[in-house]
Amino acid sequence: MKKCLFCQIIAKKIPANIFYEDEKFIVFYDINPIAPLHLLLVPKVHIPSINDLKAKDKELIGELFLLASKIAKKQGIKSKGYRLIFNVGKEGGQAIKHLHLHLLGGKTLPWSKY
Ligand code: AMP
Ligand code: ZN
Repeated sequence: MKKCLFCQIIAKKIPANIFYEDEKFIVFYDINPIAPLHLLLVPKVHIPSINDLKAKDKELIGELFLLASKIAKKQGIKSKGYRLIFNVGKEGGQAIKHLHLHLLGGKTLPWSKY
């Protein structure tokens, strides 16, 4: 998707602070972190949101969670705890319409009733 910001980061047309990359995923630091560690785990294929997942994406999404758990272990927050978030759609606060998993950690994270 030419106009998609995350597709442009994947294509290296826009710079990002890349933490990890393989053939299926790119992981980079959020430009506006809300926790000491705030990474975005992004499948390279353009899927707009969780709402657009198809049965064929099952393996990819499974791998995305495995990657999150590997990163948490490597960052030393596996046992301390962390948070994984998908924002979905307007009320879910999704700004970038390319599926991504937020990994937040490094402190006790607040939880509110909204
Ligand atoms: P969401 O609201 O779930 O769509 O999250 C989008 C996230 O992308 C926000 O936390 C932004 O701070 C982050 N973001 C936007 N532009 C960039 C960028 N160029 N590099 C890294 N993170 C970005
Ligand atoms: Zn995209």
